[in-house]
This record gives sequence, C-alpha cells and structure tokens, in this order.
Amino acid sequence: MAEQESALFPTYSRYPLTLVKGEGSRLYDDTGKEYLDFMSGIAVTALGHAPKVVKEKLVAQLDELWHVSNLFSTPNPEKLAKLLTEHSSADAVFFCNSGAEANEAAIKLARRYNQKVLGNDRYEVITFHQSFHGRTLATLTATGQDKVKEGFLPLPSGFVHAPFNDSAALEGYVTDKTCAIMLEMIQVEGGIIEADPAFVDEIVRLCEQYNLLLIVDEVQTGLCRTGKLFAYEHYGLEPDIFTLAKALGSGFPIGAMLGKAKLKPAFSPGSHGSTFGGTPIATAAALATVEIMLTDKLADRATELGNYLVDKLQVALADISWVNEIRGRGLIVGIQCAGPVADEIAAIHLQGLLVISAGPTVIRLLPNLLVTKEDIDTAVGIIAGVLSAKETVNAVK
Ligand SMILES: *Cc1c(COP(=O)(O)O)cnc(C)c1O
Repeated sequence: MAEQESALFPTYSRYPLTLVKGEGSRLYDDTGKEYLDFMSGIAVTALGHAPKVVKEKLVAQLDELWHVSNLFSTPNPEKLAKLLTEHSSADAVFFCNSGAEANEAAIKLARRYNQKVLGNDRYEVITFHQSFHGRTLATLTATGQDKVKEGFLPLPSGFVHAPFNDSAALEGYVTDKTCAIMLEMIQVEGGIIEADPAFVDEIVRLCEQYNLLLIVDEVQTGLCRTGKLFAYEHYGLEPDIFTLAKALGSGFPIGAMLGKAKLKPAFSPGSHGSTFGGTPIATAAALATVEIMLTDKLADRATELGNYLVDKLQVALADISWVNEIRGRGLIVGIQCAGPVADEIAAIHLQGLLVISAGPTVIRLLPNLLVTKEDIDTAVGIIAGVLSAKETVNAVK
C-alpha cells in the first residue's frame, strides 16, 4: 500500500513487499512470490513460521482460557517460569510483552533493590555506546545511539554511556550513584559486535568490587541463537538480571525479566505489573517454544549450522574486496561491507532472500534455528551473486 494511503504512523521505512503467508523458512507475498527468510522477523520466529507444535499448544489453550488478569494464578506462567529458572542462573521471572518492557522492568528492579533492600540511594545504570535496549523513554535513554533519542527530550536521568570493549576506561564511569551495569553480550543492532572476554571480566570485577548488579540484555541473543541457551553462558558468568523477548513466543508477543533470588524481596505486590504480562495464551506459546528448543538441542544446532553458514560465506565471498569481514556466533551472522548495504539488501530481496542490516554497513543473517544446509547453500548463492555483481560495477567505475 502506498505511504500516503496508509492510516499507520510512518514509524517504519518498510520494504516494498506485502507478505501474506509463512511456513517454515518460507514467506509468500501477495503476488504469490516465494522468499527464503533469513531474518526471522528480527530473530523472533526461531522455529520458523507457524511451527506445528507451538500452533497445536496455542489452539488447545485458545479452547481453554485466554485472559483473567494477574490477580489470579494460571498454570502456564508458573510452568514457564520454572522451566526458565531451571535452565538459567535466575530464580524468579517477571513476564511482560516486549523487550523494551523487560529491560524497563530490569532497570526498575535494579533501582528498587538498592533503594528498598540495600537501603541506599543509587540509581545510575552504566550502558554502552552502540547498545540497543528498546524504545520506551527509559530504554531509549539506556540505548547508546543518538538516533533513537532525537526529538524526545527531556530524557529520564540515571543513565551513563561508556565505550564498549574498553576495559581501561570502564571504572572511571562508576560513581557513588551507580547501581548496575547493563550490556548485550553481542551488540546486534549496533553492528554485531561481541563483548571481549577480558572486558566482560572487568565488568564482573567492578560489579563485585562496587556491589553493582549485572544486567544482561538477551532480548536478541537469548534462546539458542548464539549456540547457547543464553549468550552469557559463553562467558561463564551468572548475571543478576537478564531479559528475554524476541524468540520467546515464536512470534506471539511475550517478554521476560529474570533475576536472582536475592532480588525477589525488592518487588512486593503492587510495585510493578502488566495487564497482559504472561497471559495463558502468550505463555502457552512460550512454553511450547522453549520446550522444543531444549528437547531438540537447538543451541547445538545453531552452532553447527552457524559454522556451516560462515564457512560457506567465507568461500563464496573470498574474492569480493567490498566485503571486509564475516563474523558471528551461532546463527547471528554479519557480513561487514566497506559501504552502505541498503541497495544490496534490496537486490537480495529481489532475488527471493530476505535479510536485514545491522547498522548501515553490515548485512545481518538471522535464519531460523531449524534452517537446512540446503537453504543455507541457496542463500549464500544469492548473496554471492548480488555482491559479486556489485564488485564488477565497482571495478568498471
Ligand atoms: C529488539 C531488542 C530490544 C527491544 O525489544 P522490543 O520487543 O522491540 O521492545 C531490546 N534489546 C535488544 C538487544 C533487542 O534486540
């Protein structure tokens, strides 16, 4: 639909495609054209589109109960919280509806733990340049990118931005008001930049020395995508708080904020809440999703298929000088190019492969966790074709 006819606020610059159906790794537009999906709704549809087991659980739940409010107990949120805490460093879960809300809850919990349990007046959260934490006023303030803040002044106070992967500088950002350090183990929106192990060690050391809470934003990296159930596992650490959303419900909206037992007393009845947080339906989708991830060992699969994808790209793009680097972990893979990639992404879409960018110069690949080697071969062929055509044009210039 043309922009001027749309009754939606123009908050997105949409690709010129109208998608009407999805099945597994395939999407179909309104003309019936088929696409291979290597973006998964931005790391959401981790089991592919309309996964059968999740759909069955959802349909069964739709027959039973949709919504009663959090003033009553229902079985699914309890089961899901148990499953998530059994398989993580966390002991308690708060359910909400999105990544931004999960991070908002994390920030509120960090402040409230300090003010109500420790009895101090600390509130500052250190976050990092190029980070992305969401679009609410607090989480866009936490985000280390100016573009998301334009026109939204005044911003809430209490956020300090430090350079990412700069161990020497970090301690200088700690003040007597600091209550937490918050980071993504891989800054995905920021260009697919992994946290250095030595930098993470320094964060852990500072958290111990100054009694700060360690908050890990796993909204995009969590739930098997990096080759572990949670990306923090690659670093052998246990965050005090971490957050989930994107892949949790296979496309059904749900977010979660998870924390250690010592944080439980910081929230009391009425201190935080959400009308839709953890409805029977959303948690049915999430339960089915996480159960499959665990029983089918999809973290290991992400490692194996991610390595296969990177190896294939290394070979196929080896002679393209415009490609500077191929990097990633598990099934988060980035192709770092020497210039803006918007035109190449449009050309790749035309060839029937859906990919996105991560920052202006990185082509980001996020296939679902069940992607086949055959589909990877197809995708690599399309990307190599488009990027070598670009190389030829550059050579002629
Ligand atoms: C997507 C994302 C968010 C925001 O999640 P929403 O569901 O869009 O609110 C926060 N943090 C990270 C790392 C993300 O990738």
